[in-house]
Amino acid sequence: MSIVYKADPVRGKRWQALLAGKAPERRLHLWPEYGDPAAVRYLVAWQPPEHVMACFPNLQVLFSTGAGVDQLDLDRIPAELPVVRMIDPGLTQGMVEYVVLAVLALQRDMPAYLSQQRAGVWQPLAQRPAARTRVGVMGVGELGRSVLERLACFGFACEGWNRSPKQMDGVPVSSGDQALDAFLARTDILICLLPLTPATRGLLNTTLFDQLPRGAAVVNVARGPQLVIDDLLAALDRGQLGGAVLDVVDPEPLPADHPLWTHPRVWLTPHVASATQPETALDALLANIERFEHGEPMQGEVDRSRGY
Ligand code: NDP
Repeated sequence: MSIVYKADPVRGKRWQALLAGKAPERRLHLWPEYGDPAAVRYLVAWQPPEHVMACFPNLQVLFSTGAGVDQLDLDRIPAELPVVRMIDPGLTQGMVEYVVLAVLALQRDMPAYLSQQRAGVWQPLAQRPAARTRVGVMGVGELGRSVLERLACFGFACEGWNRSPKQMDGVPVSSGDQALDAFLARTDILICLLPLTPATRGLLNTTLFDQLPRGAAVVNVARGPQLVIDDLLAALDRGQLGGAVLDVVDPEPLPADHPLWTHPRVWLTPHVASATQPETALDALLANIERFEHGEPMQGEVDRSRGY
């Protein structure tokens, strides 16, 4: 039986070399090479081939190489084929680094200082201590929880908001649509770590921005279509928002003349907040395959009714 990897070929070579060292009894093929299609049991892919079961008639699990599965058309993947998203400590660490960087930069007014530097201005700005900076994370899942834990260490006044109730030591988490307005009203720096679903598409819009305290900042590290860019630009221009850090936008990349490229209060990165790290992700994959083969639930199995 074999595993096929169908995503970035350079990373695929790392997966292959690591697997040869850690589990030499298992064989990993790099798409488009896959040997005997009937022997393929596991597909590790960003996008499966069209008609995946016709391609691999004995496929048992589809593993997404990414934490999200919004790139997949779940309606076209047979209902009996389990789909598993990536839960990788290396990916989580990368996201924590990015969000900590963004929050500290916003709290310490780095976008404004960069503008001042370019203009040759030497002017200290009023500084707000971490303890008086309220950081709110939407989506207290694998990534949101780790981000909150780490930000709390800096002394930020942290809070999470989530679909279902969640418990965290020392960090309050509110839940449900009825709690959203109050959560937003006490958030100075808002971080979106929600999966892209019909419920979260377009959620970062004028209505939401207007519920934040005036001058609040937004960090979107989830998916571009969750943010209505025109609403963001309008909120920045009328001062309702003080800044934004965007790792994801829609479309990616933005057109060359898009105002976000040059907006003085926007930091833009090309969807690099975090990536799956083969060194740690392979262990997670092998552990899930072991669980599957022992009839145990896998970590990160997608609930198709929820879409994530
Ligand atoms: P998880 O599935 O572990 O967490 C998602 C959380 O969001 C869950 O706690 C879930 O609640 C909550 N949630 C889902 N829908 C809603 C909703 N409508 N309202 C409120 N809460 C909701 O995902 P991860 O933390 O691993 O990843 C989150 C997202 O981050 C990914 O889907 C991906 O899009 C993005 N990402 C971006 C990267 C980048 O480089 N920019 C890298 C990696 C991921 P519940 O517990 O009730 O299910």
